[in-house]
Amino acid sequence: MKELLKKLSEAPGVSGHENTIKQIIIGEIKNVVDDIKEDSMGNLITTKKGLGKFKVMIAAHMDEIGFMVKYIDDKGFISFETIGGFDPRSLGSQRVKIHSSKKDITGVIGLKPPHITPQEEKDKALKLEDLRIDVGLGTKEEVELLGIKPGDPITRDISFSELGKENIVSCKSFDNRAGCAVLIEILKKIKKQDYTLYGVFTTQEEVGLRGAKTAAYGIDIDFAIIIDSTAGGPLPKTEADKVTISLGKGPSIDLMDRGFILSEKVKEILLKAAKESEIPYQTHISSGSTDGAAVHITKEGIPTAVISIPSKYIHSTVEIVDLNDLDSTLKLTMKSLEIAKNIL
Ligand SMILES: [Zn+2]
Repeated sequence: MKELLKKLSEAPGVSGHENTIKQIIIGEIKNVVDDIKEDSMGNLITTKKGLGKFKVMIAAHMDEIGFMVKYIDDKGFISFETIGGFDPRSLGSQRVKIHSSKKDITGVIGLKPPHITPQEEKDKALKLEDLRIDVGLGTKEEVELLGIKPGDPITRDISFSELGKENIVSCKSFDNRAGCAVLIEILKKIKKQDYTLYGVFTTQEEVGLRGAKTAAYGIDIDFAIIIDSTAGGPLPKTEADKVTISLGKGPSIDLMDRGFILSEKVKEILLKAAKESEIPYQTHISSGSTDGAAVHITKEGIPTAVISIPSKYIHSTVEIVDLNDLDSTLKLTMKSLEIAKNIL
């Protein structure tokens, strides 16, 4: 799981520009699924056919938050727009990659040295409009020669790293490459199942659950599990009721978020799965939302569960996850499918 997560989380794939990450995912799963197709939103819909009538979907969004080139000024500094939810305070002083039509170019979101920054400016929170990307060139023309133009996607340039323990790792984009890694491992692991499984990698979740809306509509399913990432702790100087789940204690069975309330019936399935297989889990009420919000009200309604992997410092430059939580997510998802097909 670790090598796979490294490969997925270092890859670029901002919402609406998921092609590179999608090709990596296809490379991983093409030999273990019966069918692969894409819909017009770019969702990757894979099928593993089974003998029985029961049909399930496991979905994970493959897009990540990032940026887009907005304007290049005469001195070659690049203004940019955010794609997905960032706190602007987290943006300064980092390297990014601009994906132009010609090649990938590294740039720096630079901060002025403290020596020349007046105190009142230091005390103010950073705003997006104060920041520029510097690719080390002096004129607009030179920047344009690299192929950089408005609309080019930009990703954070962060490499994967192990922290204090071998199961604790950090990178950008664990939201939701961690979920993608788990879904890929499930597709590799499940063999000769008695239900049809759709493994769906959705697009544009971070900008309003856009891909999931068409993905769930295009297939007929009896049950859906969404695997996503959510804010985990403990975080320094943060009250326990702000971040209620912790790394290393298993995935979260999401009870409610801004667009979804877990049904009693589906809750029963997940709790039974966790209990029977002794899988650690937590429960969580999220102030965000996931593809589950779009999927559970598709067509005449689809019984849906959202299982979230706790990730520290989510939606900032660099996140932390515990690989044991990914393993528990895999086990909980697979066991829940077994139980759901006998109950639903
Ligand atoms: Zn997410």
